[in-house]
Amino acid sequence: MKIAIFGAGQLAMMMIEESRRLGHEFVLIDPSSNPPASKFAKHIKTDFNDHETLEYIAKNYDVATIDFENVDISSLEFLESHINVYPPSSALAVCQDRLLEKNLFKELDIGVTKYGSVTNINDIDKFSEGRRSNYLIKSRRFGYDGKNQFKCNEDVSKIKNLLSNNECIIEEIVNFSTEVSLICVRQQDNKIFFYPLIENFHKNGILRYSLFPFLNKELQSTAERYARDLLNHFNYVGVLVIEFFINKDGNLIANEMAPRVHNSGHWSIEGSSMSQFEMHIRAITGTLNKLSDDFKPSLMINILSKCPDEKKLSLLDNHHFHNYGKEERSLRKLGHITLTKASVEDLIEVLPSFLSILDS
Ligand code: AMP
Repeated sequence: MKIAIFGAGQLAMMMIEESRRLGHEFVLIDPSSNPPASKFAKHIKTDFNDHETLEYIAKNYDVATIDFENVDISSLEFLESHINVYPPSSALAVCQDRLLEKNLFKELDIGVTKYGSVTNINDIDKFSEGRRSNYLIKSRRFGYDGKNQFKCNEDVSKIKNLLSNNECIIEEIVNFSTEVSLICVRQQDNKIFFYPLIENFHKNGILRYSLFPFLNKELQSTAERYARDLLNHFNYVGVLVIEFFINKDGNLIANEMAPRVHNSGHWSIEGSSMSQFEMHIRAITGTLNKLSDDFKPSLMINILSKCPDEKKLSLLDNHHFHNYGKEERSLRKLGHITLTKASVEDLIEVLPSFLSILDS
């Protein structure tokens, strides 16, 4: 099949690499120069809403997908009138807006923290009943990896600036014991698959490392019920990820969802008989006729800001180093490392030696 991917970052790169043997032809639409996936497929360097490009895709490609969720909804709607677009634009529209996303979670009876829409400092004081330190303010749109969000007791000028340039929501800070994500996939024929939960550890709002699996039967079945409702709501096709907090009472509180393959699933290249990337490509091309059925306990650590000293790394346990070929920049995701072992405990034992090299 001929597949167009909006966004040509590392997620697109891994989708192409992991589905190479399926024989699809890819085109990438991305305004940046030399993005990671451009080494592996034709790259059209243009804005996501360039009409000529959209018409070209509509005429010449079978299906469009994304590696980046902030693609204009109108572009995807245009394509939807000609070819399959997976995931559907309706799912992206909700994922692009934290308020719509939380409203949908609530409507589907999915646990969420206390939240509301705010437009000024008075709203914040009213909503937080004077306890600003217990709340976060986030822009409704274009916030990811902790960007465009602050604690409500931070510098008032920062908060006023955020409020004057963005529509915002306020959220009660969840006192969580840990964070987990559920990665699932759905094909048009309603074939659905869930990986076991993954435990995620963030630093400054950015994923630092993930441990797989996080085994908890009750939480797994609750997360799957939530995910199934979301998938059905959108008549969703492709990979969908939900990020949760586990609060001190042991309940799942949904933070956000991503309508795409996800950083917390990178371990699946080595740790699963079918990676999230292959699952996604199979689901959007209607060829998900087998599912992942074999898993290894896995650790995935992000490489942020600067590339590690490979000589030092080579002295450590067997691992797989994925280099996205990006230029170094503060807090930029440049690659990741995956290790698999017999147990999560074994992985936790070697984690500090990896972090000490990656953080040095
Ligand atoms: P986000 O940009 O919403 O994905 O947030 C990034 C990270 O910030 C999350 O994974 C959490 O570690 C933290 N965070 C975001 N919202 C909350 C919240 N309401 N309570 C506690 N921690 C949060």
